[in-house]
Amino acid sequence: MVKVLENISLKPYNTFGIDQSTKYFTEVHSEQELLELLQNQQWKTVPKLILGGGSNMLLCNDFEGMVIKIALKGLQATISGSEVLVKASAGEVWHDFVLHCVRNGWSGIENLSLIPGCVGAAPIQNIGAYGVEVKDVITEVRALNIKTLSVKSFSNADCMFGYRESVFKSTYKDQFIVLSVTFKLSTEVKINSSYGAIGDVLKAKNISSPSIKDISDAVIEIRSSKLPDPKEIGNAGSFFKNPEIDTHLYEKIKTSYPEIPSYPTGTNLVKIPAGWLIEKAGWKGKTLGSYGVHKNQALVLVNYGGAKGKEIKQLASDIQADVFAKFGVVLHNEVNYIESQSI
Ligand SMILES: Cc1cc2nc3c(=O)[nH]c(=O)nc-3n(C[C@H](O)[C@H](O)[C@H](O)COP(=O)(O)OP(=O)(O)OC[C@H]3O[C@@H](n4cnc5c(N)ncnc54)[C@H](O)[C@@H]3O)c2cc1C
Repeated sequence: MVKVLENISLKPYNTFGIDQSTKYFTEVHSEQELLELLQNQQWKTVPKLILGGGSNMLLCNDFEGMVIKIALKGLQATISGSEVLVKASAGEVWHDFVLHCVRNGWSGIENLSLIPGCVGAAPIQNIGAYGVEVKDVITEVRALNIKTLSVKSFSNADCMFGYRESVFKSTYKDQFIVLSVTFKLSTEVKINSSYGAIGDVLKAKNISSPSIKDISDAVIEIRSSKLPDPKEIGNAGSFFKNPEIDTHLYEKIKTSYPEIPSYPTGTNLVKIPAGWLIEKAGWKGKTLGSYGVHKNQALVLVNYGGAKGKEIKQLASDIQADVFAKFGVVLHNEVNYIESQSI
C-alpha cells in the first residue's frame, strides 16, 4: 500500500521553485503500486497530476487533487551486434541515464546530456538539444491507460513525434502514464558535433576525433555556462518553443531586422529563435520584483525566490502579446501550465 501525504508544498518538486501545495501526494516505486493506487475506490475520482522531475511545468494554483510522483526504477539492455536496445523505467533520472549509456559506449543520446527531468517525460515533449531529438532513438513507449488501466505499447510512429510534440501532448493528453521507454542505441559511434558550440569546445581542447564522452562533456560544459542552474535560480529551461513562420512574414521582419537568424524547415517555412524575438522586443533581463526574464537567456523566465506561478504566467502572456504586436509572430509555450488538471 502506497503512503499518501496530505497538504504538502510542491516547492521541492518543481525546478521553478514555486511554492504551491497539493492536497494529496504520493510516490510510486513499482507498476504494481501504481495500479493498486489507481484501482483504489478512495482515490478514483480525485484529480491527478503525474510528476517526473517537475522541470517542465509551471504550477499556477494549489493542486486540489493527488500528485503522483513516478519513481519507477530499472534499466535493461539487450545487445545484438552493434545494436543496443535499452529499456529504462520512467522514474530514472534522464541525465544519469545518459551518463550510464555514455559509460557503456552506447551512442545516440550523448547530445542530450544534462537535460533535467526523468525518462518518462522525455517522449512527452520529444526532448531535444544540440541537433538531436529523443524521437531519433525511441523504439517503444509503454504506457498505462489511466481509465482502462490497460498497458499499451506505442511504436515510434504511434507517438507522432514532432518538434516538442507527441501524441501524449495532443490526442492522448493526460490519458496515459508512461511506464518505460525503449531506446535503440549503438556501439558504433556516430558523432554529431556540428550543432551549436560543440565544435568550438572540442577545438579548444584539441580533440579531433571525439568519443561520445567528449561530446557529452562538451554539451555539459556549454549548458552549464549558458543556462541558469535551477538549484540557484528557479526556471524550467526554454519557456517558449521556437516559432515556425511563413517566408512572407519572415521577409517582412527582415526588412527592419536584416540580422534576424533563421533556419529553413520546409517549403515556405522558417524557424526563428523565440529568444531573439523576446530580446528584440526589449524583455531580456527585465525584472519584476522576485521574477523576470533571465539576463543572458531571453527564452528563460526565472523565479528569483517567492514568485507565484500566476505572476510568471502573466509575464509570459505579456511577452506573447508584445512579440505578436511587434512582429506578428505567435509564441507557443513549451512549459506546461498546471491549473486544475483532472485525470
Ligand atoms: C535548466 C533546464 C534546461 C532544459 N533544457 C531542455 C532542453 O534542452 N531540451 C528539452 O527538450 N527540454 C529541456 N528542458 C525541459 C525539461 O527538462 C524536459 O521537458 C523534461 O523532459 C521534463 O521532464 P520532467 O520529468 O521534469 O517532467 P515534468 O516537469 O515532471 O512533467 C512534464 C509534463 O509531462 C507529464 N509527465 C511527466 N512524467 C510523466 C509520465 N511518466 N507519464 C505521463 N506524463 C508524464 C507531466 O504531467 C507534465 O505535464 C529544460 C528544463 C530546465 C529546467
